[in-house]
This record gives sequence, structure tokens and C-alpha cells, in this order.
Amino acid sequence: MKLSEEKIFIDPVIQNLIDQNDYASAADHLFESQLKSWPLMETNYDALKNVRTKSFWFDDFKLKIQFNPGRIISTSAIVDENTITNRSCFLCFKNLPEEQKGIILRDNFILLCNPYPIFPKHFTIASLKHEPQRISEYFGEFLELSKLLSPKYALIYNGPACGASAPDHLHFQAGTKQSIPIENDIQQIKNDYGKIVRENESITTSFINDGLRKIIFIESEDKSLMEKSFRKILKIYEDVSSTEPEPMMNLLCSYDKEFGWRLIIFLRSKHRPDCFFYDDPDKILVSPAAIDMGGLIITPRNEDFVRIDKEFLQQIINEVSIDQKRFSLIEEKVKAELN
Ligand SMILES: [Zn+2]
Repeated sequence: MKLSEEKIFIDPVIQNLIDQNDYASAADHLFESQLKSWPLMETNYDALKNVRTKSFWFDDFKLKIQFNPGRIISTSAIVDENTITNRSCFLCFKNLPEEQKGIILRDNFILLCNPYPIFPKHFTIASLKHEPQRISEYFGEFLELSKLLSPKYALIYNGPACGASAPDHLHFQAGTKQSIPIENDIQQIKNDYGKIVRENESITTSFINDGLRKIIFIESEDKSLMEKSFRKILKIYEDVSSTEPEPMMNLLCSYDKEFGWRLIIFLRSKHRPDCFFYDDPDKILVSPAAIDMGGLIITPRNEDFVRIDKEFLQQIINEVSIDQKRFSLIEEKVKAELN
């Protein structure tokens, strides 16, 4: 048996669900099985049941802070090129924990349970190849995967320079739907702060500045239209932002039979706020990625959880978001290109 085959979870229940193309339930079954056979995972999901949260209300939306000590490794991860090149990649088959097994999705990906959860069920979807984290080539797959795991899960992509903890190994995350506040709030936020730059019966594209975040929101049932739109936006964003290796962004995507895809793009200016790099007692350990930008901010240290208030939260999210000038420029160009 090849090493890779040992890591594939298979039993009659999973096989049956996969035959029916019910990958969301297959994911659930994998989750339950891994929970029983992997003590670290059981401990960490148990701990998640008792995490403390606090919420802040803005006019039309909510931000939530989750005190989650289990996320300390990820939040404080050093992701510079030198460190990444010299560590063994934790998403490659040969380095997966002995207990960890997964399900193959769409031939090129493996669905794995995340043993350091934020959501009640939290998965990593890793490429079977060790290849860099880039969205341009895999955006279509990202859409297909979010469709495959609907109706139970939403999909996440973190750019290599703004939140991905393995920028050298292509991966997405999937989490229990409606766990991130913006999933509930996005239509209201769009109504109140959004400018629709393109709308017809097939696709709607909106630009939203809600005072904290700069968001492009795309809604469509048509995959090829979504891809075309995203490609154009990516090209424009590339020209305007000039960050390497791709413009900084976090994506949050869900699929619904009735409405199709809803894609939220958070445009970023930097990975971590200045306070991340301060010495204690001024240091605040937050490292915003898609989940945080979506309104579920993770603090692995109690002192930060206690100290963060509404104003500070606003300041952090603003600081790591693209500035209004460049956001407007992108909006103008997208408007001209899409219409
Ligand atoms: Zn790898």
C-alpha cells in the first residue's frame, strides 16, 4: 500500500455517501470517525465547546471575539520565506499526523479534519501536490468545492501573504455554515453600504466599505460568469496593488441551490496590525485572516481577549484593509471593464 493510500479514509458508509455525491455528509462521517480515533482532536473539539466569546454591535452588523488558546500556533506562526523553506510542510502526505486521514475531493484535493478548530466542524482542504498558495489557477476549483460541500459548509481562502499558514502548499478551509457573522449580515451590509457596479439577471457585483472592511461581493448562479468576473477583478487589483506573489485577499464563499454562489472578497493592505509586533504589555496577538475579517476575531491569549474593545477592533480591521483611495480606483476600473 502506498503511503498516500494509507491516509485515505474509506468505509462502507463513506463509500455510499460518495457514490451519492453527498460529500457534506461524507465530511461529517469522516469528522465523527476521526473524533473517535484521534485523541488530540477529541480534546481540542471538547475545549471548543467552552470557549468564551464577546460580541460588539455596529449599526448593521456584529463582530465577535473568540478566546481560543488552541489557535496560538497558527496566530503566531512565522511565515517568512526562509522559515517556510526550512520547515517540513504539515500539509504534505508524508508529514501528516499518524491518526489523520482524509477524503479525496475532485481528484486533486484531500479533505482533512483541522485538529485546532475555530468552528464546530473545521476542515482543511489541501492540494495533493506541494504547490504554492495561489488563487488564480484554482478559483474554478474553489467554486466547485464550495458547491460540493454545500449545504453544510462554507469555503475559505487565505492569500499567501495575508493569513495562509502554509503559503507553500495550496489549501482551502471549510467550516460549519453561518459560524462567521458576515454570512448572516452581508445582504444588510450590502444594502446599507454597498454600491452595485454591475447587475443583471445572471450576476451582481457590489463594492462595500462598511467603515471597517473593503469588500467586493459577487453573487451568481453561473460558474463561468463568476470566473470571468473574478479574473477581471484580480487583474485590476494586481495592477493597482503591486503586492507579491498575488494581491492580498481573503475569500469566503458559500453555495446555495436556490441562489448560487455568494463570494465575499476582503481586500487587504497588510497581514498583521502593528500591535502584533509590539512587546508586552502593548502587544496584542491578533492575526486577521478570512474568518477574522468576516467578523469572528480569534485571540489565543486571555489578556488580549479582555483588552480588545470596539474601537480597537475597528482600528485593527481598518489597518489591515486596503485604503479607500485604492479601493475607489479598483471600483472605477472594474465598473468600466464589466459594463
Ligand atoms: Zn506540502
